[in-house]
Amino acid sequence: MESILLKKTGGDYALNSSREILVIEDEADIKRVIELNLAAEGYRVKVAADGLQGLQMIRSLKPDLVLLDLMLPGKDGLDICREVKADKDLRHIPIIMVSARGEEQDVIIGLGLGADDYICKPFRVGELMARVRAAFRRVDSAPSGRRNQKLEYGDVTLDLDARKLLVDGEEVHTTATEFRLLRALLENPGKAFSRQLLTDIAIGDEVYVNERTIDSHVSAVRSKLGEARGWIRTVWGVGYRFEPDTD
Ligand code: CA
Repeated sequence: MESILLKKTGGDYALNSSREILVIEDEADIKRVIELNLAAEGYRVKVAADGLQGLQMIRSLKPDLVLLDLMLPGKDGLDICREVKADKDLRHIPIIMVSARGEEQDVIIGLGLGADDYICKPFRVGELMARVRAAFRRVDSAPSGRRNQKLEYGDVTLDLDARKLLVDGEEVHTTATEFRLLRALLENPGKAFSRQLLTDIAIGDEVYVNERTIDSHVSAVRSKLGEARGWIRTVWGVGYRFEPDTD
């Protein structure tokens, strides 16, 4: 019966056996299908069925990749993503979000938080395996085996790995909220973000915030960008968009 669920999609079994993947998923059937298929390609697989256990296992195992369901008991996937990407010892771990239909907004937030990729349920097993291989290819092709990502526009550089903002070659201190805000904007130039979406990305839903709270964070970020302050543009009645003027 189980063999019906297994799909061989190739890949280097010996290499895969050096990789550990943590699957955080509360739906037993889906968890089992993912687990079996990853194991069939040689990966070492660990599973967690709720968010709290999942986060704890990320911290203790430091897996090479996390497949993260978004709707989870205990702690939801976005909160896990936020905590992992805020932790300098964990943020290099690639996260592939596994989302259900109707969670598109959460996927956008997750990508803004630094998740690497996503796949929507129901998915084909072959597609999932392809995403996993692609994530490892990105890791392997980055220098020193890790991604060192920098977002650079003119004199503004956001170093995602070092978690630093550089303006005109000088490091400018940012709070964690400001950094998340900048990251979302700089990773998506030209995209109009609503205040609510930026609030979800930068502040999260654990503290009560007025929608206008984000305005004061945007204002603080602008003041740190120096000459480039005008690149964060107000989209009237909506929110903000990053439009660099680097020519
Ligand atoms: Ca779920």
